Amino acid sequence: MKRRRFIKTGILAPFAVASAAPDMRGVKRAIGNPLVISTWKHGLAANETAMRILQNGGSCLDAVEAGARVPEADPTVSSVGYGGIPDRDGHVTLDASIMDADGNAGAVAFLEGIKHPVSVARLVMEKTKHVMLVGEGAKKFALAQGFKEENLLTEEARRTWLKKNKKSVFPGETPNGKSHDTIAILAQDKDGKLAGACTTSGWGNKMRGRVGDSPIIGAGLYVDNDVGAAGATGLGEEVIKTVGSFLVVELMRQGYEPDEACLEALQRILHRHRNTVRFSVAYIALRKDGKTGSASILNGFKYALYRDGKNILQPTEGIIK
Ligand code: ASP
Repeated sequence: MKRRRFIKTGILAPFAVASAAPDMRGVKRAIGNPLVISTWKHGLAANETAMRILQNGGSCLDAVEAGARVPEADPTVSSVGYGGIPDRDGHVTLDASIMDADGNAGAVAFLEGIKHPVSVARLVMEKTKHVMLVGEGAKKFALAQGFKEENLLTEEARRTWLKKNKKSVFPGETPNGKSHDTIAILAQDKDGKLAGACTTSGWGNKMRGRVGDSPIIGAGLYVDNDVGAAGATGLGEEVIKTVGSFLVVELMRQGYEPDEACLEALQRILHRHRNTVRFSVAYIALRKDGKTGSASILNGFKYALYRDGKNILQPTEGIIK
């Protein structure tokens, strides 16, 4: 009898949930005040480019793609695109994802020789029936779309790789943030629509074939235009296991403030490790009303926020001091 009742409500539940959304009541979409938030110091330059697009009336999708391309092309950013630290075998392999306001998503993983994985991810979203292409297939697709094959291993990155004696650089191990600097970038355009992108060369000296959280929709990135968006940086394995960015967005749907949602998602990781960790994960969040938030396991995480004419780097206090 109980079970039958359960099944009955189960069938009705989707309608009830969709229309009720009780905790999002009162959270109004911000209109007419574009903003961009992104991870790490290199987010400042990414935000500049993204904001220029938004101020010229461009879409949030164009903005996050253009923003993410900035560190991808910058050889001094050692964990994104060109100049990224290679894997254990000396190859630069890239992961990226992108999501638009309609819930469409595209991603590439283990992509080699293409400088702008975020743009390939966008074309996977727009030109194929798939969400994710990896490795050889992703490269073949990129070349067919007109991308050029390039050597992404800079002399500087090669030297870092040799110096580390092929030892793994554990993301977040150094609280100064040197070893992990994936860019996750979230934007809201003048119509209040949301989009996000995430791009990385991942964990320096990773095993060949390793894919992190950044190209996994729901892990490194998630956008739900009715609620908000979130992005991750840090030890991707932990983000994947807790479906981190999706979790942050779902917590905001339940009424958590953006900061609280990021914090709670990190607590899930810490709980699994009995609060003893030697890595970091950090989240950024953007709610549809324009409220932003972030949280980090360790000190040292900074995010770049561009709003009301100012582009500022904000430090985030770590949960573990
Ligand atoms: N999240 C990235 C990964 O695990 C690392 C980072 O943020 O640098 O691939």
